Amino acid sequence: MNVVNDNSCGWINNLDRRSNIKTLDKNKSCDWLIVGAGYTGLSAARKLSELHPNQKIIIVDAQLAGEGASGRNSGYLVDTTLNDGFTSNKELSNYKKKTDIYKLGIDVVKNFIKEHQVDCDWNESGKYFASSNQKDRKILENFSKTLLKLNFEHNILEKNDLGKRLGINFYNLALYTKGGILLHPGKLVRAMVETLTDNIELLENSQLNEWSKNSDIITCKFNNHKIITKKIIFCTNGFLKSLGIKNNYNFPLTLTASMTRPLTNNEYKSIGEPKEWGVLPVRPMGATIRMTKDKRILIRNTAEVHSPFKMSKLDLDKSSLNQRHGIRKRFPNLPNDIIESSWSGIVSRTRNSSQIFDKIDNNVFVAGCYNGSGIGVGTLFGEQIALKASNEDSDEINIIESRNKPTWLPPQPFLNIGVKIRLMFERLRSRSDV
Ligand SMILES: Cc1cc2nc3c(=O)[nH]c(=O)nc-3n(C[C@H](O)[C@H](O)[C@H](O)COP(=O)(O)OP(=O)(O)OC[C@H]3O[C@@H](n4cnc5c(N)ncnc54)[C@H](O)[C@@H]3O)c2cc1C
Repeated sequence: MNVVNDNSCGWINNLDRRSNIKTLDKNKSCDWLIVGAGYTGLSAARKLSELHPNQKIIIVDAQLAGEGASGRNSGYLVDTTLNDGFTSNKELSNYKKKTDIYKLGIDVVKNFIKEHQVDCDWNESGKYFASSNQKDRKILENFSKTLLKLNFEHNILEKNDLGKRLGINFYNLALYTKGGILLHPGKLVRAMVETLTDNIELLENSQLNEWSKNSDIITCKFNNHKIITKKIIFCTNGFLKSLGIKNNYNFPLTLTASMTRPLTNNEYKSIGEPKEWGVLPVRPMGATIRMTKDKRILIRNTAEVHSPFKMSKLDLDKSSLNQRHGIRKRFPNLPNDIIESSWSGIVSRTRNSSQIFDKIDNNVFVAGCYNGSGIGVGTLFGEQIALKASNEDSDEINIIESRNKPTWLPPQPFLNIGVKIRLMFERLRSRSDV
């Protein structure tokens, strides 16, 4: 499979173009090979370089580093999530373990941006789980009880209050959580690329096609060249299956998002000049929608099983139209044609919403599958999988490994059929909030 993305992501196109891109142009060998340069792979590389300053570390990516899901997500660094799609974990102790991991994820990103003085539009604004449908009140009340037991500061807001905060009258109620950060995902991952140290070699536009292990030697085949490595860490998230990794434990979903141009001063005034905000849906297939720091509106309201992963222009245009409707019904007074960019990206899911953090063979490691929490959890898992692969212990590893392991998924075509039916059902239940 060819790993390619559209080049229309508003976050990425908002950054300066990079130069000095190196690709794999001859056979190489190394102590450590990391495959995938998103939050997970880049964090793993950073940690390995600290642990083994004299060893040779290579990180490869099939496209430009950070331009997969890590550069094209919605930018919510979450402390809590209400739904994980269709297999939400309802038990309190499991939910606590999950939020413990989210907290560690926030801490690790915070430390990174502090240490490297990263400007990524960090805003500790909290977030809203909002719905236009009064029938969702029960869900939010139950969620509130869970948050109360775990001491998460939050409150339920009604239409009028909400309208003032968001500048729109679309939503009828919301649960606001004080924790949770909004940021510019492209700026964050770009900083992770730019701060790689000299003992890490980054090779981009270099897709791993095949790998094999023979006693202690791991051979990785790319288009024209090979890398021989002693240890390997797979951080390819939605593309794990295409490398034959954890085949029956994860599946990719394709999401699409659109971003408007910045609102003009008059447009911004017309919606009451709200502060930057982020709304997550109460039901899994509802829209995620944000007002960004520079007064753009971001909306993500699709998730599908899509093959090939890279969407045709026609499919992307269809999603964009969907997103235009989503903006229109929330902001009826804004012009109809303010979407500036639309793009797709791949997330990775497991059946029970647990993440993958594993040694799959001697010297072969993998971390991934965070659904919509990869900014923090991916950054954390990258660091921790590097420690695990170096035979180090940590409290974080113990916490990560105390969660349930991902559960088994049926083979194709049953898996895709099941996922498609579930998505259809969820879309129907969320239809007012798409
Ligand atoms: C539209 C959208 C919205 C989202 N919103 C949020 C959000 O608000 N908050 C949040 O926390 N998360 C969100 N996510 C999820 C989040 O982006 C991911 O969980 C996170 O980026 C995963 O990071 P990663 O480094 O594991 O994987 P990725 O960023 O996907 O990186 C994997 C890399 O592996 C490379 N690769 C794959 N196969 C190969 C190969 N064979 N050879 C070499 N390289 C390969 C890819 O090119 C890619 O760069 C969203 C995702 C999408 C798509």
